Amino acid sequence: MLDIQKIRADFPILSEKVNGKPLVYFDNGATSQKPQVVIDAIAKYYQEINANIHRGVHTLSQLATDAYEISRVKIQHHINAKFSHEVLFTSGTTHGINLVTNGFASILKPGDEVIVSSLEHHSNIVPWQMLCEKTGATLKVIPMNEEGELIIEAYDALLSEKTKVVTVNHISNALGIINPIKYMIEKAHAVGAAVLIDGAQAVPHLKPDVQDLDCDFYAFSGHKMCGPTGTGILYGKEEWLNKLPPYQGGGEMIKEVTFEKTTYADLPHKFEAGTPNIAGGIVLGTAVDYLNHIGFHNIHQHETHLLQHATKRLLEIEGLKIYGTGKNKASVISFNIDGIHPYDIGSIIDKLGIAVRTGHHCAQPIMNFFCIPGTIRASFSFYNTKEEIDIMVEAIKKAKAMLS
Ligand SMILES: *Cc1c(COP(=O)(O)O)cnc(C)c1O
Repeated sequence: MLDIQKIRADFPILSEKVNGKPLVYFDNGATSQKPQVVIDAIAKYYQEINANIHRGVHTLSQLATDAYEISRVKIQHHINAKFSHEVLFTSGTTHGINLVTNGFASILKPGDEVIVSSLEHHSNIVPWQMLCEKTGATLKVIPMNEEGELIIEAYDALLSEKTKVVTVNHISNALGIINPIKYMIEKAHAVGAAVLIDGAQAVPHLKPDVQDLDCDFYAFSGHKMCGPTGTGILYGKEEWLNKLPPYQGGGEMIKEVTFEKTTYADLPHKFEAGTPNIAGGIVLGTAVDYLNHIGFHNIHQHETHLLQHATKRLLEIEGLKIYGTGKNKASVISFNIDGIHPYDIGSIIDKLGIAVRTGHHCAQPIMNFFCIPGTIRASFSFYNTKEEIDIMVEAIKKAKAMLS
């Protein structure tokens, strides 16, 4: 069992007041809060070893380079990648996905097909649409059912030898549904397609094993897993990263430059042009250590209790409907109250110190499916408590009474 009060003490922001009330932070799906060790590690980097990496012979440059590369190896082990050069530092999930879609622009041809799911974040829709526009490939969409689950028989039927890439999120940010990605990856590989997994919502809740999943790419952001903003990782299988052209040209990613021809650096540097977010990359490793210290088994157990408690308590409210009622779910609840706009509830409970997300959650196709403008989304982290959920439920009841 986790000592939640002890864990909460690691997060200075959790003892802040917002609008005069103790903060109840349920917007973890948008970004997580940061523990003191992560905040301290950022300052420590700038105070003690700040220098540019992979360049200087001087001591600080070597210390910074070592710390950056140690973090890469830490993340390699965390996701169980076979090689550290399969772990690319990015600025976030969006960057990682665009790196891949940009690479596929030189591979796809008219008549090829790309399969996305109807549960995707705009970040995992728009780059693929742009890719299809550029190459003449066709975008196919896996439909969903009323429970917010992908219709897997429909996915099976979409797959053919025309399918070149399949992309799906591990966990839906809008509904919290966990997708059967292992099965989907296996099926895609059977027709020779590559698979990108958008792991942005998964990494705060679980430890992905990219070799066991056998995915070709796995993209995630640091800021949703207790790390700094502007950090992220793209895992790519070595053979794919060798096949794809570089995303950006610049310093650091070259072997030799002349005006006639430039040769590219080896992995991972081929995809890491320019000076990266050095502090961020190092501190992402600190965040991963912190989460592993808490333990993903413990995180899962506590978050499951929170999800069950919130589901039960919210359903006490008359006229409240939960979206995403499938069985396999992470600690995210999307809901609406009959006849009330989600924004109005969100604004009132904000005055009571409660942070939830309202709107389409960058997943407009899901909202269109349910014929709603948006939802209220409460997304829980391991540092949240049942008491906070009770505070939210009472606040929603109050808001509902005011608005109806
Ligand atoms: C947050 C999120 C993204 C985008 O992540 P950025 O950090 O904004 O690049 C993509 N997909 C999902 C499922 C997300 O939750």
